[in-house]
Amino acid sequence: MITENFRILEVNLTTGRSAIRNVPGVETVLGGSGLAAKLHMEYSRPGLAWDDPSQPLVFAIGPLTGFFPLMSKTVCAFTSPLHGQYAESHAGARSALALRFAGIDALVIIGKAERPTVLHLGANVIEFMEAGYLWGKDALTTGKLLRRILKGSGHRTIMRIGPAGENKSAMACINVDTYRHFGRLGGGGVMGAKNLKAIAVEGNGSCELPQGKEYSALFADIFRKLTDTDMMRKYHNLGTASNLEALNELKALPWRNLQATSDPGIVGITGERFADDTLLRNAACSGCPVGCIHIGFVREKFHKDNQYLYRQVGYDYEPIFATGSMLGLTHAPDVLTVMDEVEKAGLDVMSGGVALAWATEALEKGVVTREQTGIDLRFGDAQGYMRAVHMLGGAVNDFWRTLAGGTMAAAARYGGGDFACVLGQEMAGYATGEVFYVAQGLGLRHSHLDTGAYTYDQSKAPKDVDKALAFLLEDERERVILTSMVSCLFARKVYDPETLRQCLTVLGGQALADGLDQAAARIQKLRWQARAAGGYDPMNVRIPKRFLEVETWKGRTDPQYLEELRLAYAGAIREMCGQD
Ligand code: SF4
Repeated sequence: MITENFRILEVNLTTGRSAIRNVPGVETVLGGSGLAAKLHMEYSRPGLAWDDPSQPLVFAIGPLTGFFPLMSKTVCAFTSPLHGQYAESHAGARSALALRFAGIDALVIIGKAERPTVLHLGANVIEFMEAGYLWGKDALTTGKLLRRILKGSGHRTIMRIGPAGENKSAMACINVDTYRHFGRLGGGGVMGAKNLKAIAVEGNGSCELPQGKEYSALFADIFRKLTDTDMMRKYHNLGTASNLEALNELKALPWRNLQATSDPGIVGITGERFADDTLLRNAACSGCPVGCIHIGFVREKFHKDNQYLYRQVGYDYEPIFATGSMLGLTHAPDVLTVMDEVEKAGLDVMSGGVALAWATEALEKGVVTREQTGIDLRFGDAQGYMRAVHMLGGAVNDFWRTLAGGTMAAAARYGGGDFACVLGQEMAGYATGEVFYVAQGLGLRHSHLDTGAYTYDQSKAPKDVDKALAFLLEDERERVILTSMVSCLFARKVYDPETLRQCLTVLGGQALADGLDQAAARIQKLRWQARAAGGYDPMNVRIPKRFLEVETWKGRTDPQYLEELRLAYAGAIREMCGQD
């Protein structure tokens, strides 16, 4: 039920103290993204380095979590190791429901543990567990060991880091329950800097449900739309991997460090190919009847007499683009094998894949040498990439340590910035055109999920800066409502604004329902202000030359349209930040 205040658990790793705080603002920031930005503004120290112990790591859920299906995301906010500014990353699995049933709306972690630590908490427990024995272990082994040690199976989330996080990499992710991730902008590095190997949250409390028939009728209606209509079918069937073929057809799928946007090799890595040859099962985040998580298998021969072991690897469109087409791999099992290594290292798959693609081209062009990389990299060579993932995650020498700070950091040191596929951070897999390049390049999270720009590019929209700008601002505002509710964005058609108002109302949040539009505009600004507080100036963002060279279905990028839109969007962001 919706309460007047947020219930925040503050944990200080330096002192070992924790406290529950009642924080006002439910009507103004709703939860999720809004709450995360508010708490980051309150706790962060913009003048200090991202890895200063005082910098916060925030996990926030929304007002509908635990009450309606697919309200399953947690928003993780931190100061990014990539750019030293406000960052948000979103993930599902059991994280949101576990926090809800642990009785908190947000967890704020400050300080730095003296030694490697696991933070274990629930409705009636907070303990710091010594974790020296886990330091150096990969993210999958860490999860396996903690699952055996801790109780609460099925109601518990285990968020942990691998070697990349321990090495404070700007592309280190936080692995959540094996198949989901706080992937982007280096949240894993923040945990590593705090000596925090894992956070285990037991959802061992309970929540009261609303009385009367209204709630159950609304729940049943939403559940029916999610399961009995075609609205979510594509996510359950082939999953997002079905986009590979369509984007390749459209000349919008990045291949070999975006040297091409389409390739006949697609036949080996389509959604159908993964489903036919590798799919073991589907899985779902807690509270989701859709189950879009596709889990394939990789086999490893460990004895000449046909003795194999197999491992399960979750795949989606983005991981296949990043460790498949971007690296020139055209055989689904090879892609899963590289993906499995990325999981173990605890790297963000998109950042890691795109960084390796840049390193391959840099090596080919002589921008960096074999002596610097310590390894040969060739597009299409899965074995080489498996070794390279370890070198990147382990930051094993000067070159890999520099690259772990981001592809642009490596390009600044060695050269090759023109072909660095970086749009704020390593690109997502949509070479669709100008609107997407500007949207990801400047957008708050530098994410393909900040807006639906890649879909806008694919429509027949004219090259009209004002219309494109209006779309970017409006679409972001709509998504901010959903990310503040922590809805899975796949459910955005089901959770339209009217349905969200009904959900809030039956939970006793009439004022929230009435003020939803105003809250959206406020939160949109608040997040940008949080970003600007760290020194962000969208005017400084540049789109690398590679994006101008590449051929899409619309032909080459129009440099004038790109530049005009970049300036217009940067101006609008500055205005929201209060910089103009
Ligand atoms: S649709 Fe997929 S990502 Fe969204 S909540 Fe369900 S399982 Fe999780």
